[in-house]
Amino acid sequence: MSIERKKLTRRQVLKSGIAASTFWAASQMSFKPGGLMAYVPDNPKGERPERDPSIQVLHPRKRIPLSFIIDDSTCLVNMGHYCMPQFAAAWPKREIYKKPWKTWPREIPDSFVREFGEWCHDNKVKGKYSIVPNPACVGWLDRDLPGWSRKDLQDSLKLVRELMMPDWDIHPEMITHTRVIDIKTGRPFEEINAHTMENSFPRKKISVDYLASYLEYALKILKNCDLPCEGITTPGGFGSFVKSELGLASYQSVKRVFNPEIPHYFKYVAGGKESTEPMVEHVKGLKTENPQLVVNIPAGTGDWFGGWDGDLKSQGHKYSNDDATQGRMVELIERGDPAIMLCHWPGMYSQGTLEGYKDFQRVVKALNTRFKDSTQWMKLSTIARYWACKELTERKRKENTLFLNAPFSCPDYTLQTSYGGKAKPVWEYKDQKKPLQLVQKSSELKEGTFLQEGNKTILCIQLPKGKSKLTLA
Ligand SMILES: [Zn+2]
Repeated sequence: MSIERKKLTRRQVLKSGIAASTFWAASQMSFKPGGLMAYVPDNPKGERPERDPSIQVLHPRKRIPLSFIIDDSTCLVNMGHYCMPQFAAAWPKREIYKKPWKTWPREIPDSFVREFGEWCHDNKVKGKYSIVPNPACVGWLDRDLPGWSRKDLQDSLKLVRELMMPDWDIHPEMITHTRVIDIKTGRPFEEINAHTMENSFPRKKISVDYLASYLEYALKILKNCDLPCEGITTPGGFGSFVKSELGLASYQSVKRVFNPEIPHYFKYVAGGKESTEPMVEHVKGLKTENPQLVVNIPAGTGDWFGGWDGDLKSQGHKYSNDDATQGRMVELIERGDPAIMLCHWPGMYSQGTLEGYKDFQRVVKALNTRFKDSTQWMKLSTIARYWACKELTERKRKENTLFLNAPFSCPDYTLQTSYGGKAKPVWEYKDQKKPLQLVQKSSELKEGTFLQEGNKTILCIQLPKGKSKLTLA
């Protein structure tokens, strides 16, 4: 294993075209600390408030968050077809880029986006859907997409806004996902090599400012398309040499362009026994009205639905078999960790056979049947909000009263604490006062209810921003 390979992150390996299955098998083996597969989330965490250890924050409504991260999606352009020759030009020795891309469809049609989006909505699936703003340099989504009419492009953007956005966070996956753009001129740099490809950029340390302006450039194009974003996705190994700077640059750029409360980003894949919990990074000014923070949300699976180019055989059983007793998603759910699955859009379409999509449907049906009462599908922004409030809400206890001070509001906020007697919890916020209603099993937990499990009391509230309190009896 060369030094170069050791520095690759999981996603770089996935994106570099090494079969995900091989990669995954490798990741199940043990490695020396700091070796190839170790995913060490060591970005600065920043501030944390006082958190009484006797009050634990559980998953929202005591359900394990599920989500689906879709990379390499955009309007109409099949990134498998268009990226392949550009990757081959930058890495001429790599056999994996010598595939017959000319025989593959150039388009992933909106009829498929519609079918996919409607099916996911009916089956409650939520997640993240990339929109690459200048996909493989084909055209600019806020201007024109050569090869399609202006109306085709407008209709496609409208479909994303109306059908996808309610259930999916939209992220730019940088500007082109292929060539690095000179943001002073808007043109790709002249040389073609690893230094000028987004999925391996930058090859050396660069400043947070420069990185943030690059991300901002991508975000602004989506803003022009009326596609609001609360986060970004890195293409492949983008930012691998500047991990901490990337977190900060994600915060700055998303904040500057869209100003959401809680920016987030997706870059990493946690494997094996590594935690899949999101990480709340670079926290500053927690006591102010507008704290700085960014949530780093890792995926927990490889891409086994057909690969980034849509040319691999789908192996959906690796996420879950048909009765949801085996597979990586099952493993994560059973151990109680967020289970976020990953794929690439060309792999869903599978060059028109829809093989990856059909496999995905089987996986969702299996998970939604066996784990119906113990999981819930969430957008990445909702997961980011939950973890921000899990990590950053001050939690104090004085006898039977819990005092909360939250930097943000949060739906389905679920706490567990021990209490000797029969609790009769009352929630108070400003001049409102509400008793919580007792439910008999955890599947019935929702905002305004509580559950008694032995000497543990589990409470679910709509957490308001600022100070509130819960009195147990
Ligand atoms: Zn990608």
